[in-house]
Amino acid sequence: MNDVVLKLEGVEKRYNKGLAGEIHVLRGAELRLKAGEMVALVAPSGAGKSTLLHMAGLLDAPDAGAVEIGGQMLSGKSDRQRTKARRQDIGFVYQFHHLLPEFSALENIALPQMANGVAKGAASERGRALLETVGVAHRADHRPAELSGGEQQRVAFCRALANKPRILLADEPTGNLDPTTSDQVFDALMTLVRETGLAALVATHNMELAARMDRVVRLENGQLVDG
Ligand code: ADP
Repeated sequence: MNDVVLKLEGVEKRYNKGLAGEIHVLRGAELRLKAGEMVALVAPSGAGKSTLLHMAGLLDAPDAGAVEIGGQMLSGKSDRQRTKARRQDIGFVYQFHHLLPEFSALENIALPQMANGVAKGAASERGRALLETVGVAHRADHRPAELSGGEQQRVAFCRALANKPRILLADEPTGNLDPTTSDQVFDALMTLVRETGLAALVATHNMELAARMDRVVRLENGQLVDG
């Protein structure tokens, strides 16, 4: 497949640090992410990985440059239009799961679908199928606090994919797990990405996991270079 689903062009981002002055985090970052492709984003802490994911995910607007999703230029659009595109096309996963504590694993995956107009039965069915894919179906009715860290993170992946986004953005999704669990959770993530054919950009410090992805890009001096 050759469809570019996420395109960053000349993305610039500066932060004003008050008395400490200004820092220029992204200096013309370029990226093409294709459907079905899983790309590792590697850089030391503080280099700007989260900033880049925020730009890619339309959570924040670049100071200059463009972000295109599915061929549509979105970085210059209104908050409302960006929010709509984000809801439709982008799933996020963070280092910590951020699941809603008072709901079961299955409900955590069904609720975002219901908020998008999917009927409860269909939302639950898709939730179970996703949980099945990552091997957590037997824990569907448990609340997050009753799940292990690895199970919580696998549920968070399912939730991120609940509304069938085209792009998954993950910020150190296994960063909080021990090495064995991290491998298992990463396997689950890969299975989900492969089965759904989505494009994934995964920030990680773990070079072994990075090497298992289709390619690696490094963030160096505010630019993305093939790694
Ligand atoms: P990484 O994810 O690679 O650790 P970040 O994107 O979180 O890096 O941060 C890159 C740099 O930008 C850091 O120096 C950080 O302090 C700074 N930064 C990030 N977000 C903000 C913000 N909202 N305001 C000011 N500085 C920020």
